[in-house]
Amino acid sequence: VAKVKNKLEGVWRLSKLGVPVGDDPGKDSLGISPGLLQAIAKVIEFPVASMLPEEAFSVIRKSFDARKILKEAKFVYTVDLDVKTLLELEPRAHDFIFRLEPKIGLVEHLSPDKTVSGDLISVVNDCKRSKEDEPQIINGSGGDPHKHGGGGRSKPKIAVVGGGPSGLFAALVLAEFGADVTLIERGEAVEERGRDIGALVVRKILDMESNFCFGEGGAGTWSDGKLVTRIGKNSATVLAVLKTLVRFGAPDNILVNGKPHLGTDKLVPLLRNFRHYLQSAGVTIKFGTRVDDLLVQDSRVVGVKVSDSTDKLQSSSQDLKFDAVVLAVGHSARDTYEMLLSRNVELTPKDFAVGLRVEHPQELINSIQYSDLAGEVLKGRGKVPVADYKVVQYVNEKEDDLSQSPSKRSCYSFCMCPGGQVVLTSTNPNELCINGMSFSRRSSKWANAALVVTVSAKDFDLLNLRGPLAGIEFQREFERRAAIMGGGNFTVPVQRVTDFLQNKLSVTPLPTSSYRLGVKSANLHELFPAHITESLRQSISMFEKELPGFISEEALLHGVETRTSSPVRIPRSNETYESTSLKGLYPVGEGAGYAGGIVSAAVDGMFSGFAVAKSFDLFDGTV
Ligand code: FAD
Repeated sequence: VAKVKNKLEGVWRLSKLGVPVGDDPGKDSLGISPGLLQAIAKVIEFPVASMLPEEAFSVIRKSFDARKILKEAKFVYTVDLDVKTLLELEPRAHDFIFRLEPKIGLVEHLSPDKTVSGDLISVVNDCKRSKEDEPQIINGSGGDPHKHGGGGRSKPKIAVVGGGPSGLFAALVLAEFGADVTLIERGEAVEERGRDIGALVVRKILDMESNFCFGEGGAGTWSDGKLVTRIGKNSATVLAVLKTLVRFGAPDNILVNGKPHLGTDKLVPLLRNFRHYLQSAGVTIKFGTRVDDLLVQDSRVVGVKVSDSTDKLQSSSQDLKFDAVVLAVGHSARDTYEMLLSRNVELTPKDFAVGLRVEHPQELINSIQYSDLAGEVLKGRGKVPVADYKVVQYVNEKEDDLSQSPSKRSCYSFCMCPGGQVVLTSTNPNELCINGMSFSRRSSKWANAALVVTVSAKDFDLLNLRGPLAGIEFQREFERRAAIMGGGNFTVPVQRVTDFLQNKLSVTPLPTSSYRLGVKSANLHELFPAHITESLRQSISMFEKELPGFISEEALLHGVETRTSSPVRIPRSNETYESTSLKGLYPVGEGAGYAGGIVSAAVDGMFSGFAVAKSFDLFDGTV
């Protein structure tokens, strides 16, 4: 009886519900359309789809699937069915629900703990409430000098260094738990940062402290704003992060869209709201302030040395005392890594990827991916999403001349920006590196993506680069070469894909490029060591099989893409998030080597916030 009752209660999750494009209102509609009701009726075997009440269903995820193996392109939905509402409004559905069987990946009966009810702020408040429910020990909690909870003790003073996604989420959690948080960011707030980026793009003036990598929101602000992550898109933590973004102004379709995306125009006001919330929660925010050193006493961090980031001589230097330092500096903060090394903080080199950024006309990618449906894209205003792609191949290469044993190197597209533009992500005028960004509509006429190959210590070694920062020197080497090949002033060296494959210089006129600081024809074979170039060449030929038309006279390769993920890891405890080599230091996010991308960095920042709160006895549960 209990089993039957259980079946007729709660929520059933119905997945992989396909609706052909012709029967769907299109990518921007997240409602229950007649086409979707048809697909639902088919799964629950209900005879008359139009009799199913819309109110009983909610869309959990909607994606677009135009893979060539399908007979026709379709939107694919995951939908939750609220049994109580359905039976109230349509009692005739009773027998159909009664017969419904769980099928892995298609139909699932959800237990109540499968759903996340709120954003991070409510999650923290729930944690605080459960702590308040516990009996309190009035006279403190024991001998640990770093315990600050209960007993009317002072709030722990925490510095969060870096205002990218990981730093912002760490600051948010810690502030919600009642810590005294100071967020220190070398770059500027989004309003001023926008002006600095304008000066870069229009007048070629690079502010080394406020640019595409540094400033409020970190590297993720003037970005494509893709919110896809490999860490489980439906996981409770990812949902809590996305719900927090919605709270600060992101459109709520990011909770449902299979490939959620914001775009710079949505990110800028969101970050402003995030800032105002942090300030209202008592966080002190210091923009234009760079951490130059750590204050260390008895093998523990006790504060930071900061200076005004526009002051090159560091004459404005001052010491700020803190109980703990969350280090969320991203992976472009090369000076900060050097400082950590000088402080004997353990750093280990990490594999990452380097390559080139390819740009095609967006219409070409639309027609490769969608064939007849390409006309429905309408520069981001149409029924189907602007087409993207993702390719990965493994290329055989000789291990070394002595063993002649082949090893595999993976080559893949990375950070694909449909309807976007190629942008300059250098933080130093002598180095040139690029990435991609877009606006929410993705309406530009170009599609760009990095084409990269993995590199490891073996590759660094070939250039005689060793030690914890070898990967950074490796990046720098190719960024400098690219700057020289471009001829200076941030001009990017480019080559047609067809010419790259034939190792010949491209003759002008070149295909147009979205990169606004200028491009110059160059032989990109002269950039990387031969084995990397060869891997790129082979993989491009293989990508053509998956995406016929990818090798095109209109496709332009841009050099150089080096900052794909962190070349360094700062080892930390899995449980406490504290550095394994320096007490009181909490390395988080992409720069610490524990995240790659906006959402995973935010999730890492969030967990580090909980871990630090726990170490100061502000929280004692598990998340
Ligand atoms: P960051 O975002 O790098 O933030 C670190 C912050 O620390 C910076 O603001 C920096 O100014 C500050 N800082 C550094 N050193 C110091 C110091 N010594 N003192 C004080 N402050 C300091 N990811 C996606 O998931 N989707 C995308 O579409 C996407 N597009 C991208 C486009 C571009 C152009 C770029 C550059 C990156 C893109 N990424 C994207 C990657 C994503 O931005 C990063 O993975 C993410 O921002 C990492 O977050 P983080 O908080 O760890 O570090």
